Order: sequence, then C-alpha cells, then structure tokens
Amino acid sequence: MSDHYVVLSRKYRPKNLDDLIGQEVMTQFIRTCLEENKVPHAFLFHGIRGIGKTTTARILARCLGCVGNGDSLRPTSSPCGTCRSCIAIDNDNHMDVMEFDAASRTGVDDIREIVESTQYVPVLGKSKIFIIDEVHMLSKSAFNALLKTLEEPPPHVMFIFATTELSKVPETVLSRCMTFQLNPIPTSKLAEHVLAIAKEEGLEMEAEAAEIVATESGGSVRDALSMLDQIIMLSHKGGNITSDTVIKTIGGARQCDIDAILDFVLAGSPSEATQLADCVIVSGCAPFTLFSNLQSTLYKRITEHVKKKDKNLSNLLYLWQILLKQTENMKNAERPEHVLIAAIVILAHTASFPKIEDLMIKDRTTESGSDNLMQKILARFPGSDVSEIG
Ligand SMILES: [Zn+2]
Repeated sequence: MSDHYVVLSRKYRPKNLDDLIGQEVMTQFIRTCLEENKVPHAFLFHGIRGIGKTTTARILARCLGCVGNGDSLRPTSSPCGTCRSCIAIDNDNHMDVMEFDAASRTGVDDIREIVESTQYVPVLGKSKIFIIDEVHMLSKSAFNALLKTLEEPPPHVMFIFATTELSKVPETVLSRCMTFQLNPIPTSKLAEHVLAIAKEEGLEMEAEAAEIVATESGGSVRDALSMLDQIIMLSHKGGNITSDTVIKTIGGARQCDIDAILDFVLAGSPSEATQLADCVIVSGCAPFTLFSNLQSTLYKRITEHVKKKDKNLSNLLYLWQILLKQTENMKNAERPEHVLIAAIVILAHTASFPKIEDLMIKDRTTESGSDNLMQKILARFPGSDVSEIG
C-alpha cells in the first residue's frame, strides 16, 4: 500500500462512456452526438449527488479534446487515453478545460472572467470547455452575465453545467441547454459494481455485504465507494468483507433480519418482531436505517405481488400507508427507536386483522347484504365509525 491512499471513487473514476453505469439512455445519446459530429454547445446534467454528473462532463471533454484518432477536427466517442489532450484531462491540468464550482464562485465577476476567456481559441484541444458544477448557486446577475454567451457562443466553446437542484436554474438557462437527468444507480447494479471494485482491490467480499453498501448509499456511486473506503480502512485491509463487517462499520442491518422482522409483522406476532428489531438496533443499526430498510423491503414485496398479478394486496398496502405516516415522526422524534418499535407493534396488530379480500369472498358465499360487508370492512380500521357513512 502506498503512503497516499487514493480514495476509490477517484481511483475508479470512469474515463469513457462505456464505464458509466446506470445511465444508458444518456450515454447512447452522447455517443450518437459525438459519432455524427453534432454536439450541442451546452449540456446540463442534473440528479442526486455522486451519480456521475461531473464525471460525465469530464468524459465529454475527453471525447471532444482527443487528438489521437487521426482526424483532428472530429470528436470521438472512444478517446485514445494516450494523446496529450487525454493525459492532460486525466491529470486535471488541461489548459482548455476549466472547471468551476459555483458554490464558491457565485458572483458576476467570476462569470465575466469566464465570458472573457471564451474569446480566446483553445491551446491544446479542439474546444474550450467550461464545466460549472452546482450551477444553481450562481447569483441572478451572474446568470444574466452568462446568458448572451450561452445563446451565441463562439464555435469552439462548450458549456457543461451540473446541478443537484434543477428547479433553482432559471428557465432562460435551461432552454439553452441539452438537459439530462442522471438516475440513481439501481441497487443490484451498484452492488455488482462494489463487488467488482473489491475484487480489483484484491479483497473477498460477500454478495450480501455489497448489497447492504448499495442499499445504504441510495443509488449514489460516490457514497457507495466512500463506504467501501471506510470498510477497507476499518477491516485493516485484507480478510473477508462479510455483511457483519459492513454492519459494524456503517451501522446497517442484515437483509435476513429485515425479512424476518417483516415476516413476524405479517404473521401478526408483535412480540417476536420487536424483539428482533431490538437486537438489530443493539448490534449497531441506527433506528432510522432499520425503518427505511423495512420500508424498502415492504415495497419490494408489494412490487413482487403486482408482478405476479396477485390481487391479495390490501394488507401490504395498508402496512405501507402506516409506515409512510410514521416517516415524519421518525425524523422528528427525540427517541426514534421508540417510534420504530411502536410502529412495528401497530403493523403487526394490523396485519392480524382479516383481509378485505377474505371478507368479500366470505360475504359473497353467505349472501349477506352489502351493508354487512361495509360494516366488516370499516371495523378493520381503528377509529372508523359506520354511523358516519351515508
Ligand atoms: Zn486521446
């Protein structure tokens, strides 16, 4: 191991369109633009943090600047990686690729400086590229100073904007850009990516451990790799990375425990469900993490039922409603573990109520009236009063 540990998100930063994961539609569009040499002069990438917005901007700059493909005027969708332009971008010192963080340079003077430098022709590559990260942070006057150049930029100039808050970017700017939303990376794909990087680092990692990392990072590649950095540091580099290692490091929960809690809930067994939830919390899982894991597992089960066209869904949907209602309480509670345990008890009690589908079938078979059925349905819901109906 060298003295300077390079963080994984930097070490494995994608350099080509093919390396980007989970953004197929966008990469296909960019590839076509490059291959047909019809590249818009302004792009805007938006989406949550750590999913590859500035990485895509740099890849685009690499594709536009590469001079190793024989035709020095056309861009390429597969940059060579060895020409002076590619190497300069990889080393963050390309003279024609300028990266600004609008969070720290928000003023009109910063933008005037950019506008002025668009007049000069590129030194090394074919285009002068201005990457402005967190562009929504620019002041109103800064946006105004940018507009004219954005409308009619010199032919060698390209702007690439990135933002986590699209709604804060003025319409006048949006209308002048080719806009793409980058999606959070699906959990299964992100877990595969984490496993591949662990392998590349010479580490054994359990599939379930990678799954926990992917779930906890909410679709952000950077967050997932930062977690992996932390896990590697704490597991003293080497050894097998198990789900227990991950849980200890990041305070997550094992999927088998989440499934078991949900099974107890659905079986109407509050005592077993809360006991297991207690154990998971004591072993280091934050209550809110356990809560959101329960939510995503319940969601997974609902979608599985829908896929199978199983109409026996009402109880799951009702549990979902209860969990949703507790989200705010969890966030605001002084003791979130109390809200979580109470929610589990409510869920387990509710799950033991008869299902609407069963009541309907039974009612049809006994041919009792529809009023009778309505009373039975309403009786399932605490606080409902039949006399209020009609
Ligand atoms: Zn090149």
